[in-house]
Amino acid sequence: MAFVVLASVSCGAQEQSASATTSVPVPPASDPAHETPRPVAVTPKPEPTGPPPFNSKVSRVTRDRLPHSWQPGCPVSYRDLRLVTLSYWGFDGKPHTGEVVVRKTVTDDIVTVFEKLYDWRWPIRQMKLVDAYKADDYDSIDADNTSAFNCRRATGSSNWSNHAYGEAIDINPRENPYVTASGDTAHQNAKKFTKRPTKGKGVINPGDKVVKAFSRVGWEWGGYWSGTKDYQHFSKGGG
Ligand SMILES: [Zn+2]
Repeated sequence: MAFVVLASVSCGAQEQSASATTSVPVPPASDPAHETPRPVAVTPKPEPTGPPPFNSKVSRVTRDRLPHSWQPGCPVSYRDLRLVTLSYWGFDGKPHTGEVVVRKTVTDDIVTVFEKLYDWRWPIRQMKLVDAYKADDYDSIDADNTSAFNCRRATGSSNWSNHAYGEAIDINPRENPYVTASGDTAHQNAKKFTKRPTKGKGVINPGDKVVKAFSRVGWEWGGYWSGTKDYQHFSKGGG
């Protein structure tokens, strides 16, 4: 008797299950295999092969960063100078990071101009503090080094140079030499760059975009001097 009851319950359960399956069909829309793909929002990615954007940083400069270029008695305290670390485009066609020391009042001018030069891919040989050459102006120029602050006298003068105030910068000095009124330069490796206009990588010519970029922030070009020409030299307010 007990066996019959169990068999009956089991059979009834199977029937109910079969009935439920056929009476409640699965809606086609809920079948993952038939779902319409939804549009997915895509965030644009930066160009993977593009160079890094221009970068700059202005920081205080310590006495020990200027072991040769600054001494007591200089017209500007090292506390009024700033180290500007910035991107520049190299002669090798690649981005680099350079360092330059200028007076704290002109850091915006320098960053503004060098951001343009970088965006133009305008090439610079190298940019180190002149202390890398023991503050020897001749050696720094011979190495085609772009630099600014150096507590020294103006060339051929007993007066302080604008470089001693951190308000002048020399750019690619080999390609843009200091040329005497008779057309000569002290640097053998710069002889072929004494005339203007001259074509070449990193050369500054009268009226070109580098001169204009400096002019917009109030810096004058030594290439416009009468007699002696200083094609590498830009200074705040001239001189
Ligand atoms: Zn100069």
